[in-house]
Amino acid sequence: MSATATETRKFEAEVAQVLHLVTHSLYSHKEIFLRELISNASDACDKLRFESIAKPELLAGDGELHIDVSWDAEARTVTIRDNGIGMSREEVVANIGTIASSGTRRFLEAMSGEHKADARLIGQFGVGFYSAFVVADKVTVLTRRAGEPADTGVKWESDGKGEYSLEAAELAERGTTVTLHLKADEDEFLKSWQLRTLIRKYSDHVAFPIRLPKEQDGKPGDEWESINAASALWTKPKSEISDEDYQSFYKSLGHDFNDALAWTHNRVEGSQSFTTLLYIPAQPPFDLMMGGRDERKGLKLYIKRVFIMDAAEELLPNYLRFVRGVVDADDLPLNVSREILQQNRQLERIKAACVKRVLDLIEKLAKDEPEKFATFYKAFGNTLKEGIAEDQANRERIAKLLRFASTKGEGSAQTVSLDDYIGRMPVGQDTIWFITADSYAAALGSPQLEAFKAKGTEVLLMFDRIDEWMLGSLSEYAGKKLKNVAKGELPLDEADKQKQEEASKAAEPLLHKLKELLGDRVGEVKVSARLTDSPSCLALSDYEMAPHLARLLREAGHEMPESKPTLEINPQHALVQRVQTEADEAKARDVAFLLLEQAEIAAGAQLPDPAAFVQRLNRVLLGS
Ligand code: ADP
Ligand code: MG
Repeated sequence: MSATATETRKFEAEVAQVLHLVTHSLYSHKEIFLRELISNASDACDKLRFESIAKPELLAGDGELHIDVSWDAEARTVTIRDNGIGMSREEVVANIGTIASSGTRRFLEAMSGEHKADARLIGQFGVGFYSAFVVADKVTVLTRRAGEPADTGVKWESDGKGEYSLEAAELAERGTTVTLHLKADEDEFLKSWQLRTLIRKYSDHVAFPIRLPKEQDGKPGDEWESINAASALWTKPKSEISDEDYQSFYKSLGHDFNDALAWTHNRVEGSQSFTTLLYIPAQPPFDLMMGGRDERKGLKLYIKRVFIMDAAEELLPNYLRFVRGVVDADDLPLNVSREILQQNRQLERIKAACVKRVLDLIEKLAKDEPEKFATFYKAFGNTLKEGIAEDQANRERIAKLLRFASTKGEGSAQTVSLDDYIGRMPVGQDTIWFITADSYAAALGSPQLEAFKAKGTEVLLMFDRIDEWMLGSLSEYAGKKLKNVAKGELPLDEADKQKQEEASKAAEPLLHKLKELLGDRVGEVKVSARLTDSPSCLALSDYEMAPHLARLLREAGHEMPESKPTLEINPQHALVQRVQTEADEAKARDVAFLLLEQAEIAAGAQLPDPAAFVQRLNRVLLGS
């Protein structure tokens, strides 16, 4: 097919789905189409400014990049035009007819889950263009790539249902014009004051002038007026920026409707000068936990006010991926590429500064604004925990920010810091004790806690999935060891040690019998120093994975080595004594297995044979 013919193409199935979802669920925030299309126009200007560094001829006599918004009440259209980079025919097809980014698919995944109501967050997924169809029943795009001849223009048109048409067009000027043919009941967008209000509200801090024609007799006149702040907010002195300015900049930057929770704005002067403006959102974007790692938008790198690229990956460690903001460096070469960035020493320093600023900010919240800190922790606490493993240099600082539930805390609330714990330690205690489980109740009810409770020793209760993994990298804090109460030998004082030895000796025949009855279902059977009330529990070696986690991983399809648990028993318990006194071997075996199985259940392990367990339980209950 020749490039000049008109052709009609079908949207990819997923694009059609996105269109359907967006037009049907975005309705309550339909005005964001303007923000999204202006944001695309601004991106296009950014791209051209960047490419023109190497090829100044791309600007060809039209160096003032700007975005024009206009309306036509008779034709019932709104038009957004930019003189940015434009698109070639292939780019049009790739960007707005097919899955331009992984965003489309992830958007669908998120929307088919529990987030249906949050369709308004589409800007975060790279599907913003389609919001045009919320208010328009036909969208026409005219575009020509910068630096290409006039006859390489393209006209794209669609009613947003299933198909779009493509046609060659002669376009005198580079850039993109998006024309929205409004639906019947969308007349409100044909008014100058309404467009002005929306631009001020959502796009005030777009760095290029957004112009609107002055109105004459209800129609757009010939004179254009720039109506946004159009300045790089971060370059102003702090004293000249109001909280409102900061918040509105955040919203356009992060495609967020909500205010940011907190921000930090800094200028470093010296051998290397740069500015950072970093925000912590109040709520996690929905892709934070679900593969949100490939779409690393959120931190924009500028060099001397020229947008270079989205560089969250280069400028922030993974565990701070929730941060949004801008870094503007004075001394990097303007022609840097992503490859160069990745090994740039100056950038390493900027990255370290970003991390420091964000941690400073979180620390400040923890200290001075407990409510905000709680909001932060609820949204991003588990993400922050990844830093314990990822960022050795800041491990202690990050650990200081963590909060847990505790046997001395307020119920399941995660409010106890490691410093709180240490502050309450009695003289002589040199270990921070914790337990991991898959829920608060399971942690609090762990039989392994009994001896600690009896002694009044505080134990941190950890029940987030990431905790067990994180603790693999946190063996010490402030000179104190962190230890799992279910793992290894408990340190006992002389008196307890002696008691323990005597008890083990006295129980030798019992231990022997249990081992024989349980066979190779257990590695070892021991008298427990951990139990006071329960008959039995599992003990793990220092390097063994907690059974609840092993089960989760197995369920997720990972091969986990079968390990033989160590069973610890409480010889004082009547059920344990029953094993010894029961003459009938079959009955003694039933009780022995129940001791093991209840320990496994309490630890969140998976019973190898649940049906056999139930039968056993019934036999013992009936005394048969
Ligand atoms: P995103 O902006 O997050 O990539 P969109 O759905 O808003 O997602 O836009 C899809 C793509 O279409 C953009 O990435 C860009 O390549 C292209 N595009 C949209 N509008 C323009 C424009 N005005 N100029 C140039 N390219 C554009
Ligand atoms: Mg966009």
